[in-house]
Amino acid sequence: MKKRLVFATNNGHKLEEIRAILGNTVEILSLKDIGCHEDIPETAETLEGNAAQKAEFIYKRYGLDCFADDTGLEVEALGGAPGVYSARYAGGEGHDSEANMRKLLAELAGKDDRKAQFRTVICLIEAGEKHLFEGVVKGKIIEEKRGGSGFGYDPVFVPEGYAETFAEMGNEEKNKISHRARAVQALCAYLNR
Ligand code: IMP
Repeated sequence: MKKRLVFATNNGHKLEEIRAILGNTVEILSLKDIGCHEDIPETAETLEGNAAQKAEFIYKRYGLDCFADDTGLEVEALGGAPGVYSARYAGGEGHDSEANMRKLLAELAGKDDRKAQFRTVICLIEAGEKHLFEGVVKGKIIEEKRGGSGFGYDPVFVPEGYAETFAEMGNEEKNKISHRARAVQALCAYLNR
């Protein structure tokens, strides 16, 4: 029988990405598919903690094998900030990407060390057992935004070995090398073992 897994998200892009990588070996259900309309808490202080908190919530409530992800931008000169707080770095409810980038560029003003990485952690709970997977893409933060595609911090992040920002690169190219793609590939390698 085909394996079934809940992905603790309703983000259509993330669902599409993982279904494309997994092919038809595993059936991926969204939160909507299982009738979960609650706000799942994300109150941990690490990416690993948040991913586990979300997966455990679904496992406890629905008893289904599942996984959840969490991503952060980790900037070396800022001691790993904004990290787990990336969505709400500039305060408020979060997801104000313009305000987040403004704050990031202000914090880095005059600093020579611009090294940064995106890191995605996925927590899988399968038959009650927890497994963690990670994807990292290293790069640097430039001084001014460039490019119009993508989301979040994409216009200020240039991945190692490239001249363009994630926002100049376009989604197809970005999705081949991104932190999320790498974490998803690690999960898929495990599921298809
Ligand atoms: P999430 O865990 O996928 O919701 O990501 C948390 C936050 O990290 C987002 O709100 C964005 O600010 C940032 N982020 C995550 N992935 C990316 C990306 O691929 N590009 C730019 N920013 C990202």
